[in-house]
Amino acid sequence: MTTLPTTDLLRERATAALARCGAEPVDDAAGLPGRTPLTGGVLFGVPATDPEGVGAAVGAAHAAFRDSWRDTPAPQRGELVRRLGELLRAHKSDLADLVTIEAGKIRSEALGEVQEMIDVCDFAVGLSRQLYGRTMPSERPGHRLMETWHPLGVVGVVTAFNFPVAVWSWNTAIALVCGDTVVWKPSEAAPMTALACHALLARAAADTGAPADVHRLVPGGRETGAALADDPRVALVSATGSVRMGREVAPRVAARFGRCLLELGGNNAAVVAPSADLDLATRGVVFGAAGTAGQRCTTQRRLIVHEDVADAFLDRVVAAYGRLAERIGDPFDDATLVGPLIGEGAYDAMRAALDRAAADGGTVLAGGARCLEKEAPDAYYVEPAVVRMPAQTDIVRDETFAPILYVLTYRDFDEAVALHNGVPQGLSGSVFTQDQREAERFLAADGADCGIANVNIGTSGAEIGGAFGGEKETGGGRESGSDAWRAYMRRATNTVNHSGELPLAQGVNFL
Ligand code: NAD
Repeated sequence: MTTLPTTDLLRERATAALARCGAEPVDDAAGLPGRTPLTGGVLFGVPATDPEGVGAAVGAAHAAFRDSWRDTPAPQRGELVRRLGELLRAHKSDLADLVTIEAGKIRSEALGEVQEMIDVCDFAVGLSRQLYGRTMPSERPGHRLMETWHPLGVVGVVTAFNFPVAVWSWNTAIALVCGDTVVWKPSEAAPMTALACHALLARAAADTGAPADVHRLVPGGRETGAALADDPRVALVSATGSVRMGREVAPRVAARFGRCLLELGGNNAAVVAPSADLDLATRGVVFGAAGTAGQRCTTQRRLIVHEDVADAFLDRVVAAYGRLAERIGDPFDDATLVGPLIGEGAYDAMRAALDRAAADGGTVLAGGARCLEKEAPDAYYVEPAVVRMPAQTDIVRDETFAPILYVLTYRDFDEAVALHNGVPQGLSGSVFTQDQREAERFLAADGADCGIANVNIGTSGAEIGGAFGGEKETGGGRESGSDAWRAYMRRATNTVNHSGELPLAQGVNFL
């Protein structure tokens, strides 16, 4: 375990990183507390946006959309995102500092999150020349049938604390090349990273001649997000967070027939089959379950291991957790593998889940204790926990946003798939096997029911090239790569008649 930095030191480091990114934090004691989970201390008060402020930001973004951005050629829009990518590269270390200070990620994961932003900018720049529509054979002679993709409007982006900047970039880089403007409501737990990103994008806009209001930032809490969801000028609300949040946001947006893209909670499992390479599976499972202190939407929360290899595999996992317990602490220290939980609420939820699991007959195999309490009484560092469960009880079916890995065993592969799918969420799933039939079955229509299904890698750590998102209570949205861009545009079907006749479709005769 390591010595923790002081709140004052972290404030200095954050101020310097923000300044290098061109952001000037206004210290507003009455605003949102810019807190660091490393010590639990408050660094700044960040001004919050009230509903009128949201209305003004949406109005400005809407005007920028209507008056110039939608008519700017897509490859030219790509220039803005190209410049943003350059600035993100130049400020990778500053942004990673802020991600660590605000979200508690270890250095390599914080750098990885910024790399993801850079990658999606590269992807979006290429996409700016590839917003293809299809041409279909018309059933009528002398007619052309085709589709055109047009910019949609203002995209309201609501983000969660645990990927404070990557999720913003997935949405924003793609939305901007699609010709949309963006209003961003960052997590109330991560307003500083948002200030930095907004400042960099503002600089990219100034450098490339894009309208300043192509992006607006509205820091605030739930009410600020709700005001964004309710505004009829927001064509698409892309909201990332808990299932509870999705249940509140989706009906509000639906009530005004707006579009919603939801990226909600996960309850991800890995199946470990008898043929699995157990060393490889151990690494995949331990990173998936304990990485980011269990605070990824794709964190592995359930392990479904075959009875014949359960003991041998659990020995390896428990030994690895023992090594992890030595490396909990200051996320800026390169030796650290597990940083803090985001706050007291997350710790309370973890304790309550462990108590419920015990009441359901669970046995703790590793971890679960709080660490560094004396050094930082307002911060919440925990040993990631492994709990063997007699059955998939209600607490196992819930997402607790903390590092708890529940272990279940199975006898035949159908049972493993049924356990895997037997939860309300459907984000990510993995199988570790060297049996090709099992691997293919896991990916088949009657296999994993998740938006992301993997073979011989863990549940977390997706690449930006694929579409990211999940089914069931995870919300059904897809973001980032592949053709996820289509959610940010409107499709027009066009029929052009160059025949000089007016044949009606389906052979209808009229007049
Ligand atoms: P959260 O639901 O508490 O908050 C997420 C965001 O939604 C915040 O910006 C918050 O202010 C806003 N919000 C909350 N209630 C709202 C409301 N009624 N109206 C409008 N906005 C509202 O989530 P969190 O604790 O920040 O993040 C953790 C959760 O996010 C986990 O459930 C995790 O699985 C999920 N998550 C999902 C993905 C994904 O891609 N599927 C990615 C990251 C996090």
